[in-house]
Amino acid sequence: IFNSGLSGLGWLVERQSDDKGRLQIMIQLIRGFKDILPGEVEQWQEIERISRELFEDFGFKEIRIPIMERTELFKRSIGEDTDIVEKEMYTFPDRKGDLITLRPEATASIVRAYIQHKLFAKDPVQKFYLLGPMFRRERPQKGRYRQFYQIDAEIFGVASPLVDVQLILILVTLFDRLQVPDISAHINTLGCPQCRPGFKAALQEMLMSVSDRLCSNCIRRRDRNPLRVLDCKVPDCRAALKEAPSILDHLCSKCREDFAEVRCSLDKLKVPYVIDKRLVRGLDYYARTTFEIQTGSLGAQSAVAGGGRYDGLVKELGGPQIPATGFAIGFDRLAEISGLKPADYERKPDIFVAALGEKSQSLAFEWTCRLGLTGICAETDFSNKSLKSQMKRADRLGASYVLIVGDQELEEGTAILRNMATKEQTSISL
Ligand code: ATP
Ligand code: MG
Repeated sequence: IFNSGLSGLGWLVERQSDDKGRLQIMIQLIRGFKDILPGEVEQWQEIERISRELFEDFGFKEIRIPIMERTELFKRSIGEDTDIVEKEMYTFPDRKGDLITLRPEATASIVRAYIQHKLFAKDPVQKFYLLGPMFRRERPQKGRYRQFYQIDAEIFGVASPLVDVQLILILVTLFDRLQVPDISAHINTLGCPQCRPGFKAALQEMLMSVSDRLCSNCIRRRDRNPLRVLDCKVPDCRAALKEAPSILDHLCSKCREDFAEVRCSLDKLKVPYVIDKRLVRGLDYYARTTFEIQTGSLGAQSAVAGGGRYDGLVKELGGPQIPATGFAIGFDRLAEISGLKPADYERKPDIFVAALGEKSQSLAFEWTCRLGLTGICAETDFSNKSLKSQMKRADRLGASYVLIVGDQELEEGTAILRNMATKEQTSISL
């Protein structure tokens, strides 16, 4: 088998010998993908629960969309010269040759659904949230996966920057409820199609003068999408851009007023923020308010959520001119820094029935089924083990009570109920 080429996939398969010394192949998960196992998943569920509750309190409705869409949708909405479209999408032809892509983010699909189902017809104002996996073929590293999860929120039909503030408030509140330490809200504006070109030109001119200090990616971006140079993480580029012009000096009066309103309203709500003139989004459809939540506890991948206004996208994708704004939180990174401990949310058996003898065992099985149906989590043992080993298992599972019953007790119509915390034992009537 190894001669036939599989051996090249060392990361995919692991070789081990079975008990007869024959080689066995164990298939491993795909690089950059991960399993979320019990022990970790309880924290994820709690994060989901708290997020849902918060969204519903703010009038958001859940939306679920497919994980695959036509490639064209992402190309058009995310933009051809973004990292995502250029090199990160999982795109492949299906069996009929149609190009499909695993969603790298949720906004494009939510906008597609909003337009396709004419959700604006009844009321253009709609608020959605979504929880689910996204796919990007990036270099896997800590905090960066190829299947990762996002919590996404979108508001359609409101032009007022006050809803941008509401989104930032929701983010900050959520991070607080999830006990995330050391976060800061960074805000900026990207201007609008009227004033951004002036800023782009000024930036491009400045970039020309420091070209020799920019990385090759930034040289390319300088000509095609200069705003993204501001976002480059390469230290030399960052240093070269110290004196970059600020969009804040190029805003038209409407954008300036909007940004002032955002700041004033954040102040009123007592949401602390930092104005970050280098904060830009890699996606073409963003305009005006843009924001990011950063944390000191994640090292290089410091952004845990990002979002902003994308007033042009609904029209761009074939719908009416309807403004929109939203954000995406990186769930994996959030889970990593949340103070919620999985152990606090793990469901443990309320009772473990330690049955000794054939009759007791069959009754124990019946009881645990009935208890389960009434919402009491009950476990028993199916392997006729000794009392000692059954007690050990009950302890390992963290059961609150153990009901000890043997055939003798059955005849007497009693059993022993042991409180595992206090070690108290009482004889109870069956
Ligand atoms: P980054 O600068 O880290 O690449 P991004 O700008 O590509 O982030 P967005 O498209 O804004 O990220 O996605 C929102 C959030 O999703 C990010 O802030 C991050 O927390 C998370 N995220 C993005 N890509 C990944 C990934 N490959 N693995 C895990 N989380 C991710
Ligand atoms: Mg990225």
